[in-house]
Amino acid sequence: MDTIEISNLNRQFLFRLQDVGKSKAQVAAKRVMERVSGVNITPHFCRIEDKEINFYNDFNIIVLGLDSIEARSYINSVACSFLEFDSEDNPIPETIKPMVDGGTEGFKGHARVILPGMTPCFECTIWLFPPQVKYPLCTLAETPRTPAHCIEYAHLIKWSEVHSGKEFDPDDPEHMQWVYTLALKRAELFGIAGVTYSLTQVFEFSILIQSLILSVFSNSRFALDIYPST
Ligand SMILES: [Zn+2]
Repeated sequence: MDTIEISNLNRQFLFRLQDVGKSKAQVAAKRVMERVSGVNITPHFCRIEDKEINFYNDFNIIVLGLDSIEARSYINSVACSFLEFDSEDNPIPETIKPMVDGGTEGFKGHARVILPGMTPCFECTIWLFPPQVKYPLCTLAETPRTPAHCIEYAHLIKWSEVHSGKEFDPDDPEHMQWVYTLALKRAELFGIAGVTYSLTQVFEFSILIQSLILSVFSNSRFALDIYPST
């Protein structure tokens, strides 16, 4: 149910400037079909929860390109609901709906296959989501050794010192430039190579994702919708 925003353009290869405001699902389907002959895609511009449960039963396999825990949990429960067992409590193969789940966070990514009834499902392994990576504040403030230390120093310590009350917005190029410039100065001061604008962006998004995942676990209020999929 998501539309293309200008801030989406720099991190994908399906959308163009003239697509801003249009449905992500529809434009993505059109672009892929233009590029790969013989592929037929039917886009659905709606929330995944708006489809009847049986809609999902018509597919042989479900591939998740989702970015929120809430959406993954939902599809997981749908896929698991199709599972039936025989009289000896063994899963009936035709009722197993395979799911392939993938995602990225910073430089890391994962892909895994979930076979309901045979492998742990998404809910069984929800604790696998990584804990927030935190550097001791003293390392950031006194003895930075890596580009990440410099970027986190600029963001976590200096941003709030200088911009009292103003929230950092990773989609705002001026904010990003501010953190990058400061991180670079700090890196030069300590002789650390490797702080670039794109690395700063990666770290900022990684910090954002981590804090959102934590907010989901600590508040039980599902507010995670980072790059919402349709
Ligand atoms: Zn499970």
